[in-house]
Amino acid sequence: MEFLQIIDTDTQFNNIFIYLSIILFFLTFYLIRRKNKIEQEVNKKVEVLKKAFDISEESIFILSDKYKIIYANKTMKNLLNLNKKTTFDIMPKIKVKKEWESLDTFVSNITKSSKEKSFTFPRSKLRINNTKKEIPINLFINSSTDYNVVTIQNLTKEYEQKLNKYRHKLTLLPNKFQALMDLNAIYSKMHLGQTKLAVVMISIDNFSQLRAIIGYEQANVILVKFARYLETFVDKTSINAYHTCHNNYLLTILNEDSQKNILLLCQNIQKELGLFYKLDSIKLHLSASIGVSIYAQTGSSQQLLDNAYKALAESEKKGFGRLTIYETKKLNSKYTELELYNSVHEAIDKNEFIVYYQPIIDVKAKKIVAAEALIRWIHPEYGFIPPDVFIPILEKTGFIVDLGRYVLEEVFTQQKRWESFGFKEVQVAINMSLFEIETEGFVKNVEHKLKEHKLNPKLIKFEITEGAAMKSEKVVLKQLMALKSLGLSISLDDFGTGYTSFSYLKKFPADILKIDKSFIDHIIKNEEDQRIVKAMIELGHNLGMKIIVEGIETKEMVEMIASYGCDYMQGYFFSKPLPVFEFQELLRKR
Ligand code: C2E
Ligand code: CA
Ligand code: CA
Repeated sequence: MEFLQIIDTDTQFNNIFIYLSIILFFLTFYLIRRKNKIEQEVNKKVEVLKKAFDISEESIFILSDKYKIIYANKTMKNLLNLNKKTTFDIMPKIKVKKEWESLDTFVSNITKSSKEKSFTFPRSKLRINNTKKEIPINLFINSSTDYNVVTIQNLTKEYEQKLNKYRHKLTLLPNKFQALMDLNAIYSKMHLGQTKLAVVMISIDNFSQLRAIIGYEQANVILVKFARYLETFVDKTSINAYHTCHNNYLLTILNEDSQKNILLLCQNIQKELGLFYKLDSIKLHLSASIGVSIYAQTGSSQQLLDNAYKALAESEKKGFGRLTIYETKKLNSKYTELELYNSVHEAIDKNEFIVYYQPIIDVKAKKIVAAEALIRWIHPEYGFIPPDVFIPILEKTGFIVDLGRYVLEEVFTQQKRWESFGFKEVQVAINMSLFEIETEGFVKNVEHKLKEHKLNPKLIKFEITEGAAMKSEKVVLKQLMALKSLGLSISLDDFGTGYTSFSYLKKFPADILKIDKSFIDHIIKNEEDQRIVKAMIELGHNLGMKIIVEGIETKEMVEMIASYGCDYMQGYFFSKPLPVFEFQELLRKR
């Protein structure tokens, strides 16, 4: 019985199993049929879509519900170079945000993470299979439960067109439109005080004449070569080069604290241009005029450009291969003494001081025989600050001593450079303030520097103003004697403005009297000034000194003062104080 029962349970079990199997069979059968039916329906839908997609100009993929590519239209195949392939073993990569992702992974993630059915990703990128070529695209995804349609709009042409609008056709450097856009962007930051900007305008001199001589094509070669050369300065953060039009180029320089570096860069560009074109047998003397506008923070970016244009025009007016810096006069009224006081401490380290040289002419020989070193402060915010403004501040803070040492070092180094370049000797006068002379170790430092640079002391002259010389007679005399014993010359500056007694003047170890400009300003009409100047020249000569008259601005002044027997002259008539390389040009011509 028990046994039977067991058999019974067993048969019962078997029966259940059989029923279940039958149900399962039918269920599977049903499901497979249903699936096939769905697939057929999907396929039908896809087939319909395919027909539409085949003639679409947009590149389209259909991905299955498992994100496998089941279809690519013709445009897509062309885009991906897949013409003969029907399988897609390599998934294209796309970049929507920062990372490159496989297309299937991206579509899968995006469709699973959202209930939305359609997605748009403008300005994305597509990378073609194994190549590194990136294509700018708009990406659209439409998903349904059964398949996903991925549409890719190729933006290459639009990008190229846009790019062309902002590039110079010949040299492909960014053009003036791009320059203006970039300048606007920079300018908006300048107001936040984070950015300093210098704009450098470069014009190849005499270009239309040159083109007439060497022909259009060769002239274009020059333009392209120059563009490639300027490109070598471009680094993404601080320098940009543009070809604005014809023979004009532009550099923008960001956050360069040292004006000296900017000037050096310009100078190099001028030099280089002169060197690297030798066209066939024609001897070309290529030169570039440059205008620089620096750190202007008033007005607009357009104004900054205008300033650079003005500077360039000024350069071109002076002749070829010149360089002019636009000095923003308006800015000077914006600073207070306190602000200057605060920024002077770092100014030397930041290279904001630059030595300019003003030629001194020998009246008889009509040649440059000497120069006066005059300091300039190019403040990163306020621009050009005249020495009359900052020297008193430096004197108050004691920084004049550091500045004096800086000027000395610069002038001594420059003298050695000229020597190594083979220039004829030119004596340089250095201004010294009473504070410097009174500082312990002043003469020692000069002596030490002379030795260090192995410099002939004859090449250096110190200028002390009559006012300073009077204030501290004993100390000054002692120090000047010491300087003289090192072989240096001394000049008594601004003579006539103090009230030096004749007896002091007799003791004073000056080689040169420098008659103050205030006697010269009205000399043409003012007979009293004429008599005074004549008398001062005679007095100086009687004391065995030579005479310099400064502030000579016109030809009439030259003639009148030369007739009084003056030895040397200095003034705007001959030249304003110049940055070293411009001054050098004058030296070359003498
Ligand atoms: P200074 O020593 O009397 O220098 C002559 C000044 O007259 C310079 O002014 C020069 O640019 C200017 N000048 C020259 N020719 C003419 C002309 O034809 N017309 C006119 N209107 N001006 C002319 P700058 O460079 O502004 O210097 C002003 C003063 O600053 C200098 O007067 C000097 O006392 C002082 N200075 C300049 N550099 C230094 C320096 O390195 N150390 C010291 N201690 N003082 C300096
Ligand atoms: Ca002087
Ligand atoms: Ca003077």
